[in-house]
Amino acid sequence: MVFQKVTPVAAFHNITSRVRASAQGAGRALETVNLIAVSKTFSKEDIMPLLCEGHRHFGENRIQEALDKWPELRREVKDIVLHMIGPLQTNKVRDAIEHFNVIHSVDRSRLAERLAVEMKRQDRRPLCLIQVNTGREPQKAGIDPADADAFIDYCRHKLNLPVKGLMCIPPAHEEPSLHFAFLREIALRNDLAHLSMGMSADFETAISFGATYVRVGSAIFGSRGSPKL
Ligand SMILES: *Cc1c(COP(=O)(O)O)cnc(C)c1O
Repeated sequence: MVFQKVTPVAAFHNITSRVRASAQGAGRALETVNLIAVSKTFSKEDIMPLLCEGHRHFGENRIQEALDKWPELRREVKDIVLHMIGPLQTNKVRDAIEHFNVIHSVDRSRLAERLAVEMKRQDRRPLCLIQVNTGREPQKAGIDPADADAFIDYCRHKLNLPVKGLMCIPPAHEEPSLHFAFLREIALRNDLAHLSMGMSADFETAISFGATYVRVGSAIFGSRGSPKL
């Protein structure tokens, strides 16, 4: 038997058809589910074929890496939507606001305050999602679920940030659906429309729990090699 390497384009089409089937299965309109191709650690050459297929939503988790890749790609393709999905340091807020359209990792007051100041300065308002540490894992970013309502209120009403939804990364060895349901509950009671949840291993489950953004990396681009997770 001949084993053929699956190209990112073939994998991408496979994932989009699975996204479509999951949306359909959940009785949801396909337009309400946005697939973010997580391109961290992959090169411009890896990304280009997906742009040629017409895909526009991409996710990165490090500012510096994003700056090394995306300005050039954006000169070629104007309507790219770039998502910041990794932990954001306050000293990178300026670059984040300049280069990203959606920031999924707002998770503490000092960061939120810096975002508010910098949005005013640049007169740009990328959409903000609040990251919730649904598993209360000490090593993981995200606001504690017990503090989520107050933090959301602070970001929206005191800082006037364009907060549109919530994001979570469930603990690696727990049933993700419990975390997806929990995140949805927090979003519902705070009247937030967007849910960023679901990765390569569990995006179909996330869609059935209402995900509006799924963040899929390795199932499209292949495995990353350990260090830069
Ligand atoms: C890397 C990453 C993903 C994509 O993970 P895969 O398992 O490769 O699909 C999704 N979300 C975040 C926050 C990530 O850092």
